[in-house]
Amino acid sequence: MRIDKKKIKFFEKTLADFFRKAGRTKLPWRPQKTVSRGTGKITAYEVWVSEIMLQQTQVVRVVDYYRKFLKRFSTVQALAQASWEEFLPYYEGLGYYTRGRNMLKAAQVVVQGYRGKFPHEKKLLERLPGVGPYTAAAIMSFAYGDNHLAWDTNLKRVIGRFFLGGKHLVTDEAWWDDKFATPKQSMNAALMDFGSALCVARPKCEACSLRSHCLYYQEQGKQEASNSATAFRASRIIKKKVDWNRAQVLLFLHENHQKYFSANKRQFQPFLVTSGYNTRAGIKKYFQERYGLTLSVRPPHQKQLRSDIPTLLVNAQILLGESKFAIFSKNDVREYNEGTLKKLPSKKLKS
Ligand code: SF4
Repeated sequence: MRIDKKKIKFFEKTLADFFRKAGRTKLPWRPQKTVSRGTGKITAYEVWVSEIMLQQTQVVRVVDYYRKFLKRFSTVQALAQASWEEFLPYYEGLGYYTRGRNMLKAAQVVVQGYRGKFPHEKKLLERLPGVGPYTAAAIMSFAYGDNHLAWDTNLKRVIGRFFLGGKHLVTDEAWWDDKFATPKQSMNAALMDFGSALCVARPKCEACSLRSHCLYYQEQGKQEASNSATAFRASRIIKKKVDWNRAQVLLFLHENHQKYFSANKRQFQPFLVTSGYNTRAGIKKYFQERYGLTLSVRPPHQKQLRSDIPTLLVNAQILLGESKFAIFSKNDVREYNEGTLKKLPSKKLKS
């Protein structure tokens, strides 16, 4: 794939202008110095906290949590010493509790394995619990000032549309890593802000200063539209026939996707929750009333028809309380889903 150098230059310059005028430099994890000069005046710990909280959560919701969290746990050492009960009040409400548990584990690894300093190497960062390539790149870029593009949906959308004509067309993210001359720590912030201000799901092309060279704009979004039209048609076919409001729930109750709790002692079986409790609040109520457990419940990850009954597949974790359920391995769950699970579990896990 060849990309015209002039087009790249135009892209970088326009983004830099946008960021100077409209960048979200007031966000507490974006000290002005860091984004404008790339001098790394924010610590790796602070970048990590912000990026973990921002996963799947809107910026406006995170700001308050971030401030309070850093006030209580101002260093990674302070966080590493905290128990789950001490940690929870500063995280509760953000959802996705696996992220929270991973934060505590990662803080302990940093303190015990790296003397309290986040490693200055992307591969080592990626080994920390809950840290993927994106968060590792963000730490390398924002805290250490290294040249890494932190790929998230915003970056993918802006780059994919501008250079290729559709957000779904970026497949090789690493290919872009050395295409831009601008320091990546500035590029990342500008792309994130641009992608959430203008190049949103329904892009505001008329207000966008990139549009004169943007392939998406030139083609009026045809490539992206044809891709999403197929998905849209498929989803409409399913929606037409089934009333999901009456769905039952198959609940996969687990601990960090390692141990799975089962409704059956001899064979793995997810919990069956009737349609009267098929919302997230309903499922929480069901488990609180029956078992005295407080759950964190994810949105349904699959919709299925099981013997013609609409069924939602939902993941949940125990937040507070002790369970007396049997425990099975991830492998048993896979075999259950494939219909090959034997009567007795192959391994017994300790709770
Ligand atoms: S012109 Fe439209 S599609 Fe292209 S970068 Fe701007 S907002 Fe995105």
